[in-house]
Amino acid sequence: MGLKETVVLPLAKRWISGVTLDSAIDDAKKANSKGIGVVVNFLGEEIKDPSEADAHAAQYLRLQQAISDNGISGFVSVKLTQLGLGADETGMEARLEKVATNADRLNQLLWIDMEGSNFTEETIKVYLATREKHPRTGVALQAYARRSESDLKRILDAGGTVRLVKGAYRESSDFVFPTRKEVRENYAKLLGILFERGEGFAIGTHDSALIDEAKELAGQRHVDFHFELLKGIRDELKEELVKSGYKVSEYLPYGDRWYAYSKRRITEHPSNIWLLLRSLV
Ligand SMILES: Cc1cc2nc3c(=O)[nH]c(=O)nc-3n(C[C@H](O)[C@H](O)[C@H](O)COP(=O)(O)OP(=O)(O)OC[C@H]3O[C@@H](n4cnc5c(N)ncnc54)[C@H](O)[C@@H]3O)c2cc1C
Repeated sequence: MGLKETVVLPLAKRWISGVTLDSAIDDAKKANSKGIGVVVNFLGEEIKDPSEADAHAAQYLRLQQAISDNGISGFVSVKLTQLGLGADETGMEARLEKVATNADRLNQLLWIDMEGSNFTEETIKVYLATREKHPRTGVALQAYARRSESDLKRILDAGGTVRLVKGAYRESSDFVFPTRKEVRENYAKLLGILFERGEGFAIGTHDSALIDEAKELAGQRHVDFHFELLKGIRDELKEELVKSGYKVSEYLPYGDRWYAYSKRRITEHPSNIWLLLRSLV
């Protein structure tokens, strides 16, 4: 075992369910027992080898089946680059089609994560084509991206569904609003559009000011939506929201490609660097 496995993995388990499908199902049951739904992701991105991308698609089919067999309230969220986007477009479309057809068969929603800026346009195009045949599919949009307002309108015009997040990738200021204040303002603006025109959308943030804003908007227009929060972050808030009558889901990632995801969670919040350093001594 390397340093990553011995030092970072125990800390990363705060944000990931573990490496196996069973560990994700165990966490899903725990979340469901508190009235919290789940969105489960098998970790992996930028997979170039078609046989590996096939294995990822097969894992999602097993995961969807396990969600159904265990009576879990939840569904899966995929990254298109783990199904071959950027390397094997035709194969990626065929793999996504299998996962989307399986979601329909099992009466589950299907979410598509949003990745780095080099995949934004392609992700939206693939999403819009998929939802024509599989309307219960949704896609994440990043409030840090300058283009997201027009993407949101384009998706809503097509009758699509969105999970609104701030955005987690390192990007240039050509693509993103550079300050936290601007990102939050854009998030609030996009929330306004969602509450005006959207249905069945997800609010993916742990930011109390934005959650309060969403509650306020929900009081003005009664529309179906839910809050989505990540595993290991603001657990008390999830339970408070459930007690107040809101629908809440927890995003549960699992799998042996846990490092890239955990690195994003550790670095986006300074206190986690201390947790990491403390685990080294
Ligand atoms: C359900 C869900 C799905 C997501 N899907 C995507 C996606 O598809 N594509 C994408 O680019 N991004 C995705 N993200 C990540 C998102 O873009 C942000 O990086 C992440 O949610 C942090 O932003 P925030 O809105 O919580 O606000 P922040 O301002 O970062 O955080 C608000 C508060 O939450 C707490 N907090 C937030 N992050 C941490 C942390 N890592 N450790 C400890 N405390 C923390 C702190 O109390 C902080 O003050 C998703 C997030 C969620 C919740």
